[in-house]
Amino acid sequence: MTELRLTAPMLQRGRLYTDMGDINIAENINQINGRIESVCTKNGRDISSVKLIAVSKMNPAQAVREAYDAGQRMFGENKVQELEEKLPKLPEDIEWHLIGHLQTNKVKKAVALIKQGSLKMIHSVDSLKLAECISKEACLQNCTAEILLEVNIAAEESKYGFLPDKVSEAAVEISGLKGIRIRGLMCVAPFTENPETNRFHFAKMKELSVDIASQNIDNVSMDVLSMGMTGDFEIAVEEGATLVRVGTAIFGARNYTR
Ligand SMILES: *Cc1c(COP(=O)(O)O)cnc(C)c1O
Repeated sequence: MTELRLTAPMLQRGRLYTDMGDINIAENINQINGRIESVCTKNGRDISSVKLIAVSKMNPAQAVREAYDAGQRMFGENKVQELEEKLPKLPEDIEWHLIGHLQTNKVKKAVALIKQGSLKMIHSVDSLKLAECISKEACLQNCTAEILLEVNIAAEESKYGFLPDKVSEAAVEISGLKGIRIRGLMCVAPFTENPETNRFHFAKMKELSVDIASQNIDNVSMDVLSMGMTGDFEIAVEEGATLVRVGTAIFGARNYTR
């Protein structure tokens, strides 16, 4: 028996995401793209300014293949090892994003994936120490790592990331490191029953991004804003997300008991 994880935001929108085998990945992707497009249209944003990352963690390569066949090309994984296992089973033109907390002992492998062209970006750079480690490896392997700074936007104890009032300083410090290019910011907003309560956090992310951009720090661009997940991606897009990371609404509830 598989475990269902249904959250209020999913139910509230009148859609039921289950892992009971009735998932239509292609249809889910079309629906989500449609929802992103309609938010863009309502808010006067160009639809090409927001991209969907399908978060495939804990789902098999076969599920990724289904999404790929439906036209999806950007995917997110939380762990280097899981990504390494999936890579040989999947087409090479997939653009992979690493979105989970990265331990320093996995950096060498992550950078090797960047070097070989499989991994596009690390979203989860959450400390100066990790950035230094990535920089060192990128120099050794002679490549450049594109990264996002993770912001612990609601200052939650359980979350990784720079506190909002420390991000700008971190950007300055990290911008001086060789082999790294800061492309923007990322956050995992609080889990909430009502996605509207995250609007304020997303707006704050956008504000931080604009602030840092205005400092014109060498080697730092703020063209990427990675925020919004299954329960709140529409709100995130309204507040300026350029990448949304959606897992459950595409692949169904993850089974953490497996
Ligand atoms: C799992 C995960 C997601 C996707 O979450 P869903 O609620 O399943 O859409 C997005 N971002 C990160 C960092 C994650 O770990």
